[in-house]
Amino acid sequence: MASIELRNIRKSFGVVDVIKGVDLEIKKGEFMVFVGPSGCGKSTLLRLISGLEDITSGEMLFDGKVVNALAPSKRGIAMVFQSYALYPHMTVYENMAFGLTLEKGHGKEEIRQRVEKAADMLQIREYLDRLPKQLSGGQRQRVAIGRAITRDPKVFLFDEPLSNLDAALRVATRIEIAKLHEGMHDVTMIYVTHDQVEAMTLADRICVLRDGIVEQVGTPMELYERPDSIFVAGFIGSPK
Ligand code: ADP
Ligand code: MG
Repeated sequence: MASIELRNIRKSFGVVDVIKGVDLEIKKGEFMVFVGPSGCGKSTLLRLISGLEDITSGEMLFDGKVVNALAPSKRGIAMVFQSYALYPHMTVYENMAFGLTLEKGHGKEEIRQRVEKAADMLQIREYLDRLPKQLSGGQRQRVAIGRAITRDPKVFLFDEPLSNLDAALRVATRIEIAKLHEGMHDVTMIYVTHDQVEAMTLADRICVLRDGIVEQVGTPMELYERPDSIFVAGFIGSPK
């Protein structure tokens, strides 16, 4: 069963049509990567899925239920942005615990266990008492991912999470994200990147977007071997 179904999703800002009728099914547990040129609507589509923006028309279903009017906090989704957006005055621990403290019904001990488990997964346990400014960019991005993990989401949305990191850290963090996905059964990941290598190595399927529509969806190999258009071929380089 599809975890997320987008049916003829459209989004306009004023008179500007940004998402122009997207149909897409994303399976439970799938790693779906969105690629496409700057301004084609990748971030907007993630924000629509998260509920941070309302769709203009169309239908969005999670696990078969229409969620068009469901608040972001009720969607079981966590989003990781390109800029880490950590709270500067809070420790790593407090940053990671914050989302859970806002939700009712989590005891102190449960929160501690969830934060420590996520910190172990990302190898940031020794930094829990530090402030964000005492961390490197790569460590901060791990905290941002850790903050998402502690919420125990069914779906992760990543918007170019590695683009602020240098090349070596990008590779290390990419491998971390791949491991994370392998280690979390049935957790769906939707990941925006403009990095071909990231797309080819992480994706179960890649969705190529162009000017607010889906140009082609397929496994990395399908797109590589049988691109429908020169546009798609241009986005899918040789697998490394
Ligand atoms: P991408 O992430 O693929 O680079 P975006 O989804 O950020 O693209 O943006 C797609 C288009 O929608 C761009 O032309 C952008 O200017 C426009 N857009 C995005 N958000 C808004 C907004 N809140 N108001 C008006 N236009 C927007
Ligand atoms: Mg974007």
